[in-house]
Parts: sequence; structure tokens; C-alpha cells
Amino acid sequence: MTKLLLATRNAKKLGELRRIVAAEGLSGLEVVGLADVPSFPEAPETAPDFEGNAVAKARDAVAATGLPSIADDSGIAVDALNGMPGVLSARWSGRHGDDEANLELVLGQVRDVPDERRGAQFVCVAALVLPSGEETVVRGEWRGTLVRERRGTNGFGYDPIFRPDGETRTSAEMEPAEKDAVSHRGLALRALVPALRELA
Ligand code: IMP
Repeated sequence: MTKLLLATRNAKKLGELRRIVAAEGLSGLEVVGLADVPSFPEAPETAPDFEGNAVAKARDAVAATGLPSIADDSGIAVDALNGMPGVLSARWSGRHGDDEANLELVLGQVRDVPDERRGAQFVCVAALVLPSGEETVVRGEWRGTLVRERRGTNGFGYDPIFRPDGETRTSAEMEPAEKDAVSHRGLALRALVPALRELA
């Protein structure tokens, strides 16, 4: 059994990767998280793009643990904000991880933006780095529109104000499995499957 580290403390991300690994029949891989390995200093995310942050986190994880490691970086890019909050999505209000304040700030910023210019996309970049130094970097994008009032209680972050293209619901009104099947993170993680198959 090969251990594969997903460099996160987020149980939902771990669960999603475990479901993909199982669904793809990658039975030789055991997915572990940061809580399952000896702790090491985690550098702040300072890169200007998702790729830079994901690769840096995965490289740090391999260097500290010796395990093949995946790290991801994600966020929402709002057209009317020229692609921001982008890499700053988790700390847009100035407080890291304050989902409520971040969402309120974005909603206020686009209050006067008309419906036809309220496009946005969730982006997820996932990096797989092997102890050999081999790196695979993939990107998933999920397009939609920002609605004016929050709807739904599933998911996290900006889900209550994001209505994916072709949907009447927000992503916070979708079931978790439905969201996984089409989301930026689902797309990115599934794009790593060919590289994971070699590892398994
Ligand atoms: P990360 O965990 O550093 O990748 O930060 C991602 C941030 O982007 C989160 O704090 C959310 O604000 C936002 N985000 C990323 N993916 C999603 C999603 O699927 N739904 C809602 N918000 C998301």
C-alpha cells in the first residue's frame, strides 16, 4: 500500500479525494491528511497565483514527510472584480477563513453590477509532487454567476452566492456528491487520476 498525502486539514477535501481514489479502483493508494503525519511548519500562501501556492505546499509536504503529496489551492475569480478575490479568497475581508465576512464583502462590491456582468468562476489547482521530484499540476474551473441573495446551506465559502452555469440552484443548494461531480475541485482531482494510476 502506497501512502499518498493530501496536504490539508480539511476533512471534506480528504473525503473527496478518498472517494475518487476508491471510484477509480486505485486500491494500492492510502490517502492520509496532515493530521496523520508528524507536524511540520506550514508556510503561508504568498504566491501570486493558485499554481504557485499549490506547488509550494506540495513540495513542502514531500520534503517534510517523504511521501508523494498533493496540495491544492482554490478560490473564486469574479469577472467584475478583474478576477479577484482569486488567491486571496480565503482572507478577502482581512481575516483568514472568515467565510461569512468574505462573502458579504464580495456581495457588497458587486451590488451595482448588472445581471449580465455578474460572471465568476471557482478555480482549483492541484499539484502532485513525488519524492523523485516529478511534478504534475492540473487546473479545474467551474463557471457561473453571482446571485444577489444567499441561498442554501450546503458547502462553504462563497457557495451560497454562486449559481453554476446551467443551474437554477446555487452550489450551496446542491447535494455534496452532485457538487463533487462537476466542481472545480472535483475536476482538478480527477485530472490527477492518470498520474495517480502510475503511482498505485
Ligand atoms: P484554500 O482552502 O486555501 O484553497 O481557500 C479556498 C477559499 O476559496 C475558501 O476559503 C473559500 O472562500 C473559497 N472557495 C474555494 N472553493 C470553494 C468552493 O467550492 N465553494 C465555496 N468557496 C470556495
